[in-house]
Amino acid sequence: MAEFLTTNGTSYHIENIIIGAKSKLVLVSPYLQISKTFFERLKDASNKNVAIKIIYGKDELKPNEKNSLAELKNVELFYFQNLHAKCYLNESKMVITSMNMYEFSEKTNREMGVLIDRNIDKELFDKAIAETFSILQSAEPILLKRAERQTTIPFKTVPNGQSRPSYQKQLRGYCIRCETRIEYNPEKPYCADCFAIWVQFENPDYMENVCHRCGEYDETSMNKPQDRNCFSLWKKELKHST
Ligand SMILES: [Zn+2]
Ligand SMILES: [Zn+2]
Repeated sequence: MAEFLTTNGTSYHIENIIIGAKSKLVLVSPYLQISKTFFERLKDASNKNVAIKIIYGKDELKPNEKNSLAELKNVELFYFQNLHAKCYLNESKMVITSMNMYEFSEKTNREMGVLIDRNIDKELFDKAIAETFSILQSAEPILLKRAERQTTIPFKTVPNGQSRPSYQKQLRGYCIRCETRIEYNPEKPYCADCFAIWVQFENPDYMENVCHRCGEYDETSMNKPQDRNCFSLWKKELKHST
């Protein structure tokens, strides 16, 4: 039978699932922050050749967190906008809970969870796996490698393996000052907070250090909020949308 977990039990078992993973690890959590402890646990798993899939759904991941994940081998990151479920599993155990991933080391909220052991509740375990993979199927893979920049309009791979050009407009961008994820709009490249500060000086050439489109570090400003590559992608998109 599945086991009921309180806050402490939940974080204990999430950590054990990460530590105990032998071949696979799937972490589903809308909010994702890469704390030091969490990163170290992932690193250990990755060093043991565990295949790690992380699905998240809120715009919390900053480029430097992405870059530290990119250092790890066998890590795949996916974004699914309407994610609300939280589920952590390896090949033999699973926790379904209210707890977000970054909270497992904090324990500030009251959480509940259920621990499922594949050897005891195979049917339940397999149902939850099926749902997790259904989410994965429609999630957007997030490119982790820093150096690979797209030079053409990106192609989207559809499930049957074919590629088709995706002229879908870029929807999410970064605040060029604080890296927060905001709506993509090269005419409004600051988040509300940073804009409130910028507007006091209104210097359109004031140097910032994040590209509005890709979030990589580069010299940008209100006048030129994107690096050269992202600027040309944007121009191409504008052409396609008219
Ligand atoms: Zn900002
Ligand atoms: Zn860029």
